[in-house]
Amino acid sequence: MARAVGDDDDHPSTSSTDDLPVSRYANDIASAVKTNAVTVVIGETGSGKTTQIAQILLRSGVVADGSAVAVTQPRRVAAVSVAKRVAEEMGVEIGKEVGYSVRFEDRTCRLTRIKYLTDGTLLRELLEDPTLSRYSVVVLDEAHERSLHTDILFGLLKKLVSARELKLVITSATLDSEKFSTYFDDAPVFTVPGRTFPVQIAHATEAPKSYFQSAIETVVDVHVNTGPGDMLVFLTGQEEIEKACRAVEAHVRSMPEGECPDVQVLPLYASLPPDMQSRVFHPHDPNVRRIIFATNIAETSLTVPGIVFVIDPGVVKQVEYDAMTGMNALKVVPISSVQAKQRAGRAGRTQAGRCYRLYTKDALELDMPAITRPEIQRTCLVGTILYLKTLNLKGLDVMTFDFLDPPDTALIADALRQLYFVGAIDPDGKATSIGREMSSLPLEPCLSRAMVEAKRLDCVADTATVAAMLSVERVFLGQHRDATESLHELATHEDFLLGDHAVLLRIYQAWESSGYQRKFHQRYSLSDRGMEFAREIRKQLLGVFKDKRKSDRNDFDCFSRTDEGLNRLRQSLCAGFVTKIAHRLPNHNGYRTLGENSTLCQVHPSMARQLADKDGLLPEWIVYHELITTSRPFLRHVCKIEPEWISKQRELLSKKVNIHRLSGGVLSPGDAESTDAASGHEADTVDANKAPVE
Ligand code: ADP
Ligand code: MG
Repeated sequence: MARAVGDDDDHPSTSSTDDLPVSRYANDIASAVKTNAVTVVIGETGSGKTTQIAQILLRSGVVADGSAVAVTQPRRVAAVSVAKRVAEEMGVEIGKEVGYSVRFEDRTCRLTRIKYLTDGTLLRELLEDPTLSRYSVVVLDEAHERSLHTDILFGLLKKLVSARELKLVITSATLDSEKFSTYFDDAPVFTVPGRTFPVQIAHATEAPKSYFQSAIETVVDVHVNTGPGDMLVFLTGQEEIEKACRAVEAHVRSMPEGECPDVQVLPLYASLPPDMQSRVFHPHDPNVRRIIFATNIAETSLTVPGIVFVIDPGVVKQVEYDAMTGMNALKVVPISSVQAKQRAGRAGRTQAGRCYRLYTKDALELDMPAITRPEIQRTCLVGTILYLKTLNLKGLDVMTFDFLDPPDTALIADALRQLYFVGAIDPDGKATSIGREMSSLPLEPCLSRAMVEAKRLDCVADTATVAAMLSVERVFLGQHRDATESLHELATHEDFLLGDHAVLLRIYQAWESSGYQRKFHQRYSLSDRGMEFAREIRKQLLGVFKDKRKSDRNDFDCFSRTDEGLNRLRQSLCAGFVTKIAHRLPNHNGYRTLGENSTLCQVHPSMARQLADKDGLLPEWIVYHELITTSRPFLRHVCKIEPEWISKQRELLSKKVNIHRLSGGVLSPGDAESTDAASGHEADTVDANKAPVE
């Protein structure tokens, strides 16, 4: 029988970094950065941009004494993983000279000279320290990914480099240098000559019925019929990847001994525990073929060494936000031709390779977009716009902010409307004290607004618990419904009738009472990491509020674990989720969302059962966390609310708002009419004296 082997070697690789392309041009890179405020560095994925540039700049004295170099990463896992790698290369302990800082986890100290951080974390640092005084160099890495936060940093750091002595390095793996260079006032471009091997590309002759099935068949075919070499297969998500791993392992086990070489099948996706993730970097037996099933994370942010075969189904999972309906659509969409090229390139890093594209050449040329649409153009911008508002930039009109690629005005208008409705900005588009307080919390806007309300209602601890549980990627091990039977031991029937938030609160409270036991996780199918992470987030959130109170009091809630406590929690959620209220249809379990573009939708079936009363009816009024469409529009994470809590909000939601004024385009109310007319904006009226939400 052929073997599917486990990973039993946990010594990290120690291959030399001197022959990485970037290292060979160390002097040129250092002097380019020395002589220019902004430098664009282009180099193939795997050429050493992420791991080497910061070290080069430090060694060559570009990083001023007593200051540090910040290297941003769009992905949290990449920030952590490369920081560890660089610490290892430099032979230092992580958290000292080399550290990382990601949301809810800071492994840096006063000594830190090289700091890897997510682009989101650097944005937060800018709030506290608008000139980023700690750093003499900032590297905006993986710029080609065009993540939302990196795009915002482009605009803000462009201003900052002209205001103070700060070096900015933009790195990209794709040849979009001209665009970056032009945006940064013709910044010089340094292209690191690549050293790649030819990759032979095979296209499908006809479109497969199922890209997943086709991927599995191709993996098996290549494994059985070609010579040695590791394989990298791009899939769209965790579930699909786990399924593929099982399918291929089973297939290999069923083959007669000697028919094919042994294999090691490895998954690679963002929410995989870090030690499992780093297995792709470990040395392994060359006689064993490694087959790695990965998400897009392996396209450019993590370079898996030794890949000879790439299998590319040509798709990626992506969230697209619709500003009209407030709906997120999670879609499997075709990749762009730039991405297709990147993926194929993964096969030729160490020797000549082969890429099997599971789509036709025609599809590539006719159906797939040329370039990837930046995240800023397909995501909800509430958090981003609030952020820009709280920075207090002089004369800021968010509609005309210097974006590299501006988002559609409908996305900005939607964000402004939502911010106004929750009371984060005033009718003139200025951040209110509520808005500023929201910005100081590392949570998505609706949850941070709920936290601000919780402070007023004296239910901070419970609301923090719920916010923390909703902020971790995965609390439940299986699907939520798998766990519900045993969860009835933790939450009462009444709790279930109130919705997910009440149940999440009860789970956490029971875990807390158990003394945070691990046994507890097993019994209720909870994720160890998820729960521990929730505990950490909660601690940090409470820390923020404790600092604000300037007192040692830790007993935030007088009503915790009582019905009144739950009422207050739900009222806080009402304040946060004003723009996410849904009303049930009469005698029907369908819902209609409130607001200008109301949508018909349903509570996700996995949740609906628990919420139904004895007549099978769901609550009349709910707030929801997310409206997402897969096959149909579904509401996720819903909480029952009482109609009397939202009468004011409903009135407000029916009002028209003056978007132009909210965006900051009108300096004083007197200018409003003429400016509106001139710019063609709809001159809607709004009562300027009315506070949006009490
Ligand atoms: P780039 O940013 O240009 O894509 P990197 O600096 O990420 O390149 O990678 C340079 C080299 O370092 C690659 O060969 C990659 O495999 C290796 N490498 C990166 N991270 C790790 C890690 N955590 N462990 C071992 N090797 C790594
Ligand atoms: Mg990189």
